[in-house]
Amino acid sequence: MTATSTGQGAAPQMTFTVPPLPYAFDALEPYIDAKTMEIHHDKHHGAYVTNLNKALEGHADLQKLSVEELLAQINKVPDAIRAAVRNNGGGHMNHSMFWKIMKKGGGGEPGGELGKAISAAFGSFADFKTKINDAGVKRFGSGWAWLLFRDGKLVIESTANQDNPIMDGGKAFFGVDVWEHAYYLKYQNRRPEYLEAWWNTINWAQVEENFAHAKK
Ligand code: MN
Repeated sequence: MTATSTGQGAAPQMTFTVPPLPYAFDALEPYIDAKTMEIHHDKHHGAYVTNLNKALEGHADLQKLSVEELLAQINKVPDAIRAAVRNNGGGHMNHSMFWKIMKKGGGGEPGGELGKAISAAFGSFADFKTKINDAGVKRFGSGWAWLLFRDGKLVIESTANQDNPIMDGGKAFFGVDVWEHAYYLKYQNRRPEYLEAWWNTINWAQVEENFAHAKK
């Protein structure tokens, strides 16, 4: 996704970087507070990227890959760094998508092909929303709830920690972070309230674009 060469002189070294937030920290107020966004983006996502780069040091073959490629073949990553790549590479990929599917003045419902596909798969947008919320609320501890293609079908799943469905063949194009760090400052233990509020931030145009890409 964001592999860029920062090498000077000798052997170029590939490193991942945190994509800039595409809006201000306070853009998602009152649904997600500015302080949460700042810590979440700069510190949490920042740490995933730092630790992913650290894990890949000395693995020139792996440094050539995108984060999607790394995670799609996580079982081929050497034992010694597999957990670090899984957790931090997953964290990088998940958050890179998460920032983009939110925006100032978001919310509403998806239109076009995505709207139709959601209704066909889940009954209605309201049913879809309930199922995503349910997947997020029921995820014990930290993780994510996703909308993805699996075996050509549109499904909802949740994963633990920073796992992404790509690790076992799924293609997620929409999802919500249910780690406490995503909501604790404003919502404390009230995950359902955070999830309900989060729908008001969704950038459906971006999700429709992700959908079209994942569908291929
Ligand atoms: Mn997070």
